[in-house]
Amino acid sequence: MLPVREGRYWLKRIRKGAGHVSLKKSRFYDYAYYSMKIISGISVSPGVVIGKALLFLEDQPEIPRYSITRDTVEQELKRFVEAAQGAAAELRLLKESAQGISREQEGIFGAHLLMVEDPDFHYQIKARLESKYENIEWIVWEVSRELSQKLVMSPNAYLRERAADVSDVSRRIIGRLLGIKRFSLAELSEDVILVVHSLLPSDILTMNKTRVKALAMDTGSRTSHAAILVRSFGIPAVLGLSAATREISAGDILVVDGEEGTVIIDPDSETKKNYEGAVERNKKTAGKFNSLKKLPAETLDGRRVAINANLDMPEEAGGASLYGAEGVGLFRSEFLFMTPGQSAEENQFRSYSTVVKAMGKKPVTIRTVDIGGDKIVPGFHGSDEANPLLGWRAIRLSLSLPEMFKTQLRAILRASLEGKVKIMFPLISGIEELEDALRFLEEAKAECRKSGQDFSDHIEVGTMIEIPAAVMTADILAEKSDFFSIGTNDLIQYSLAVDRGNEKVNYLAQPVHPAVLRFLKRTIDAAHNRGIPAAMCGEMAGDPLLTPLLLGLGLDEFSMAAPAIPRVKHIIRGVRFSDCQKLAEEALACTACKQANELLRGWAKDHLKER
Ligand code: PEP
Ligand code: MG
Repeated sequence: MLPVREGRYWLKRIRKGAGHVSLKKSRFYDYAYYSMKIISGISVSPGVVIGKALLFLEDQPEIPRYSITRDTVEQELKRFVEAAQGAAAELRLLKESAQGISREQEGIFGAHLLMVEDPDFHYQIKARLESKYENIEWIVWEVSRELSQKLVMSPNAYLRERAADVSDVSRRIIGRLLGIKRFSLAELSEDVILVVHSLLPSDILTMNKTRVKALAMDTGSRTSHAAILVRSFGIPAVLGLSAATREISAGDILVVDGEEGTVIIDPDSETKKNYEGAVERNKKTAGKFNSLKKLPAETLDGRRVAINANLDMPEEAGGASLYGAEGVGLFRSEFLFMTPGQSAEENQFRSYSTVVKAMGKKPVTIRTVDIGGDKIVPGFHGSDEANPLLGWRAIRLSLSLPEMFKTQLRAILRASLEGKVKIMFPLISGIEELEDALRFLEEAKAECRKSGQDFSDHIEVGTMIEIPAAVMTADILAEKSDFFSIGTNDLIQYSLAVDRGNEKVNYLAQPVHPAVLRFLKRTIDAAHNRGIPAAMCGEMAGDPLLTPLLLGLGLDEFSMAAPAIPRVKHIIRGVRFSDCQKLAEEALACTACKQANELLRGWAKDHLKER
């Protein structure tokens, strides 16, 4: 049980409309908070913080709008070019000052710089100015707003998030045109919990990070720049709160619970005391976790496993090392296929190289693209599939688009010279698919050789085990694989026939279902019989309650969201492998999920109590 969750019992559940408690206006009418409100969002960065709210409301400057004459067009354009140049110089400075410190910062400032100097952006501004004859501030605002609205409307989450970058850049240029100097979060002189509607990436990069103790934001998701950055800075954060800036007033005392994804406003004294206890315990644990960073993930009786990070975007690589990842067990490459033009070989090569270089000598496992299914990408998929989860996705899509597949493979091969690269194929259902994928890999290698592009001779190639058919033929697949990586998110979905995105049936997606446990055992045994390692990169690998069980089943490598690493490593270092093996045997003998869950909880209580 996580310490922060102990606070939950203060949230007393009452029936809607109960008369004796006066409820404050809240989205959560079925909870009574005698004097406090609770709002709920998405937990994107763990940790619990109690502190004072600072409302940082984007004081959108009044943008003047007036007509200009034909004669002044040149003059307005000159003002724009100067403002853009000034903004570019500012961004260059910020990028340089970030160099070597953080790749995220470098990357974001680099992207903003590209936009400020983008000829197409300049062309659009000029064309609009010459057709509308309005002042340049207004033109910049209008063009940027249209651009960001287009992005916001995109069905693609990654593109939606890029709208913040457009606003950031246009704000920088308009600020220069209007001669506005904004209050900067770099100037904070006291500890605060930052409450915002949205936060531009450059605000996060330049803010005084020792003073911002937590972040509560109306907007944002797990893949937003804001989420990635606060995670990499280790600032606890809850995003997607919708009403934080409406419900919270400046100076309010808040509890930001980055584990539960909640913010408590004006906690009563008992709740506060309870959370203070949690903060103290977390501090102690954080100290302990920090000291674990360089230590191996090894049990008390000497069983050593690898503990790696899952990455969705290259910007996350810096954070992975901060949490003590020994490598990248899953680098999802889908982001490259979501933005038009990004999947060109050079661009893919740059992205893979960024991560491989950032990880130094540590291994980076790049998964070939897994679009389709729940990761629909416009341009690839229409609405013509009745069952996308059983349809044209992952390796099936790659095999049917050889040029696209080989472009990706060549980019990965070339990046292999920068460090230690592994490749893995998603959603393999049988040996023919694996053999076809390996054949394309050989063709990609031949093409690289032909064009004089070098690559490493030591690239391991793995198979993702995500389909029951792959489990049942794991002995056959192992013959042609250097490693297995179990994708439990899909394996559970396909084993139990539970759509992983459907909330109505999600309760059935039980990692400890007897079928799932037997599949895991069968896969790990098949790998070991053939002398190859068994890794896991599904969410199960990062769940601390399941760590002893997975150890006991013989898992060799755990790959998870980077912030989950310290806790899992802490557990690994505190248990005996022999005890875990017994636990795994008992879990495998359970006939129902409830029984297995109780077994694991009881075991954790008995074996992990002092931690
Ligand atoms: C999985 O299925 O467990 C996995 C890691 O892949 P994804 O979540 O990207 O489908
Ligand atoms: Mg998967």
